[in-house]
Amino acid sequence: MSPLFKKNHLKAVGEYVFWDNKADQSISQPSIYNMIADFMDSPDNGKKKKVAIIGWDGARADSLGNIFKANVMKYGIDHVSGYYSKPCCSGANKLIDMGGEVCLAYCGGEKGIRTEQDTSTIWGWSSILSGKWAVDNGINLPKSASIIEKSKHALSVSVDSPTILRKYAQNNNLKTAFIAQWPDHFSETYLPEIKYLQSNPDVKMRYTKFEDDYSMHKHMIDSVTEGNESESDMLIGIYESPDHNGHTTGFGNNKPHYVNAIRTCDNYTFEIIQTIENRPSYKSEDWLILISSDHGGKGIGHGSQIDECRAIFVASNKKIDSKYYSKNYDGKKCN
Ligand SMILES: [Zn+2]
Repeated sequence: MSPLFKKNHLKAVGEYVFWDNKADQSISQPSIYNMIADFMDSPDNGKKKKVAIIGWDGARADSLGNIFKANVMKYGIDHVSGYYSKPCCSGANKLIDMGGEVCLAYCGGEKGIRTEQDTSTIWGWSSILSGKWAVDNGINLPKSASIIEKSKHALSVSVDSPTILRKYAQNNNLKTAFIAQWPDHFSETYLPEIKYLQSNPDVKMRYTKFEDDYSMHKHMIDSVTEGNESESDMLIGIYESPDHNGHTTGFGNNKPHYVNAIRTCDNYTFEIIQTIENRPSYKSEDWLILISSDHGGKGIGHGSQIDECRAIFVASNKKIDSKYYSKNYDGKKCN
């Protein structure tokens, strides 16, 4: 029997050797926003700052065990003797080779208190992009909300909680982009911001929707290609295939379709990084490149507070400062 079944999932995954933090230091999703904002606001040393956030929707923390060349088999996934994805075409390995790190992270808010939230797409990406848990960004109403307020409530990020993409488009005059395919992002979650942008065309942020991961990927490549008309200074692209395959045949490393989706995202990510490195101006630019996810999953679903849904990750091409680590995170909340 795999050790994963013998011990707490988070504890088992936390023992994989490639993490730069410990399970009880898992980084909260709003702290990922702070990582980006702090990078943008730090001295530029004469270089133009750029950000690429590459989203793997539904990627569990332990899914990285399919990718890293580090010895991940000591605990958790036994029977695996090497790395699957050659470093030559792995985006996650590439970030580490660039001097980066990979840390455990968590979604779902703090269980049992006001910030507890679903481990699902709306809540996950909005917490990363707004820097706030859902009760503070407009997605969730406070417990005290009236029945009338609840009946009228849409699962939308308040226009008063700008995404980091809008913040830097507005304040720093950057060209930014939210690129995805899940229709609800556009019809509900970020609708107030989309309407805001329609009435404020001087803010150079765009929302662009695609029908599938591959067409979206081609656009992601265009958007990091210097001189292309869709070139963006800060962008997020959210690949759906881990979530789609998880809902169809199951989330987890014993599910071939899910694993294949993770590896495909990893390859797509590699192509994005390669395109960035090939930019003629690359040497005079300073890129922050992150991979993260909105939630995990178990069986064919997600949304609950179990470790398999809450435990996610953030990988960066730069060192991840320990100031973003949580303190005494027990898998449900920080104590
Ligand atoms: Zn889902």
